[in-house]
Amino acid sequence: MIAVPGRRREDAVIPEAFAYHRPTSVQEAVGLLAKLGEESRPLAGGHSIIPMMKLRLASPAHLVDLAGIVALKGIRTDGNDIVIGAMTTQHELAGSDLLTTKIPLLRETSLQVADPQVRYVGTLGGNVANGDPGNDMPAVMMCLGASYHVAGKAGERRIAARDFYQAAYFTALEPGDLLTAVRIPTPAAGHGYAYEKLKRKIGDYATAAAAVVLTMSGGKVASCSIGLTNVGETPLWADEAAKILVGSALDAATVKKAVAAAEAITAPASDARGPAQYRTKMAGVMLTRALARARSRAR
Ligand SMILES: Cc1cc2nc3c(=O)[nH]c(=O)nc-3n(C[C@H](O)[C@H](O)[C@H](O)COP(=O)(O)OP(=O)(O)OC[C@H]3O[C@@H](n4cnc5c(N)ncnc54)[C@H](O)[C@@H]3O)c2cc1C
Repeated sequence: MIAVPGRRREDAVIPEAFAYHRPTSVQEAVGLLAKLGEESRPLAGGHSIIPMMKLRLASPAHLVDLAGIVALKGIRTDGNDIVIGAMTTQHELAGSDLLTTKIPLLRETSLQVADPQVRYVGTLGGNVANGDPGNDMPAVMMCLGASYHVAGKAGERRIAARDFYQAAYFTALEPGDLLTAVRIPTPAAGHGYAYEKLKRKIGDYATAAAAVVLTMSGGKVASCSIGLTNVGETPLWADEAAKILVGSALDAATVKKAVAAAEAITAPASDARGPAQYRTKMAGVMLTRALARARSRAR
């Protein structure tokens, strides 16, 4: 360790200094976030924000740890919806019998997030609130028509996942807001689903990924929804592509047309995962595979 003059060894941390708060209720957390303002950030699993703080890309003066708030945990049904507490981990999503039966797409996606170590602590709330287009859950939530429960200074409100993402790391959350739960309408019985993700290695973010949920009737697509991950500043809901498929038998010509429509809304960055044009094409390949697999699973 390098000795820094005037600094004790135990004070030498990589991030900027910050104050740590550990509320035990949603009300207390919202009160703290409202009082501390823009200088404060919720801390969930810490697997996105702590690396950002270590790189000093984020330097919140206050971290409000949500780990002590029991009400933010758990998976329950509410009428036709399934409601998942924000602090539910990706590991818990993958292990839920209820989700495996009712929304198997969530188990399939959870198992493609990072690696088991990250999934043990990384939370659904942190994944969808983070605003990183590389996170896997946001496009899946758009695909499923999910909405987010948000508690803030002005009380509680719900925001559709399809309206939530504004730009990279910019969401509809206001300073002081806490995302408390994710509400998902249970897809129709017998629906087909798939999450296809191209990554360079286990534990990597997507080069491109596609989520599909569809229903079939009489050999034709009755309904279809498509989400795309990491091929734009935000996760994408490929509504036009899905509309092209409805009423078709998923024949090659129609799939090609829909894939072209999906590719047209992408605008990925050229980065270590490949040039933009390649990533757009990979989004098309992932979508083609996801459609075929969803079709094979639909009853
Ligand atoms: C090595 C590695 C590989 C990874 N690979 C992937 C991957 O392939 N796919 C993927 O999707 N993710 C990946 N991740 C990210 C991981 O899934 C994170 O855990 C997740 O994105 C954030 O969840 P968290 O609970 O750790 O949130 P945190 O890091 O605690 O928080 C993330 C952000 O969301 C805010 N926040 C958290 N909870 C709330 C809330 N309830 N309300 C409002 N704001 C909130 C925080 O203030 C912060 O800004 C990877 C992470 C690592 C370290």
